[in-house]
Amino acid sequence: MVPEKLTGGTIFDIQGFSVHDGPGCRTLIFFKGCTLRCKWCSNPEGLHQFPEPLYNVGKCLFDNLCIEACKRNAITPVDAKLVFNLELCRNCSSFECAAACCSGALKIAGYYITTEKLYELIRRDRQYWGDRGGITLTGGEPFLQPDFAASILKICYDANIHTSIETCGNIPLTNIERSLDYTEWIFYDLKQMDSKRHLDVTGTENRLILDNARKLAYLFRGRLVFRLPLVPGFNDDDAHIQKVSDFLRSIGKDEINILPVHHLGREKYALLGMKYYTTSYKIPEKEVLERVHNVFQSNDIRCYIGSDTPF
Ligand code: SF4
Ligand code: SF4
Repeated sequence: MVPEKLTGGTIFDIQGFSVHDGPGCRTLIFFKGCTLRCKWCSNPEGLHQFPEPLYNVGKCLFDNLCIEACKRNAITPVDAKLVFNLELCRNCSSFECAAACCSGALKIAGYYITTEKLYELIRRDRQYWGDRGGITLTGGEPFLQPDFAASILKICYDANIHTSIETCGNIPLTNIERSLDYTEWIFYDLKQMDSKRHLDVTGTENRLILDNARKLAYLFRGRLVFRLPLVPGFNDDDAHIQKVSDFLRSIGKDEINILPVHHLGREKYALLGMKYYTTSYKIPEKEVLERVHNVFQSNDIRCYIGSDTPF
């Protein structure tokens, strides 16, 4: 379905020169908002769909300028730091707090942008895309803003720019379908085949994710690459890898991209005032990656580690 009009949405970053998320050199557009709460998430500023304060207590002068500026009284000093009431911040569009802060302690993660403006910005990278590169929508969950996602994909697709999207799959299929005609690659996360364990660590059961995966394997004419964020102790055991292999084969797929969990997002949790869980997950060692790779391969599933996927 063609989007009726160009629109806009909320993103938190645009990064050029990526070689990990689709063919060639790519520009990544990070959408704000996600339906999952994976405990190892490395982009916690992408979880809420609204722009929100990023507060660095180490730079704070405690001059209270932000508290005086905020019209919603959303900021409270607690134990030598400031605490933000996100229930009030979620409806803010003026962000006086960050404008008042002159020390650099307070910034806002995320901003609204129109599709036209976004297209204008990303086209500056065009010289680096070459014949194969293009854009990848990521986040956050891009399909949580379906009109915005479809509109930027369509405008790029029509301009012969390669289009990819990364999704957690935990979204109504109708949100995804709006973009399919303009999307060449989809990276689709599978995290845990056991629904109860999925719920424990992501906050949601996996039924919708698996249902959508089955349907997309049938519906989508582009390249559908499944990804497994590899989290030791959560989803790396042989029995689980066997279940993932069985699922992929049952939907006619034979490749998977393993993404080892890492600890790179740690500082952002502190800036958002969020608890950081990821250090309770070990970064997978070479032996673990080799073992998982071998189990997939022995099940006739081509397995690529990290950015090794043949793009
Ligand atoms: S984001 Fe808005 S509501 Fe929240 S502290 Fe800043 S000015 Fe106040
Ligand atoms: S305005 Fe900036 S430096 Fe001053 S109290 Fe607020 S966050 Fe801290």
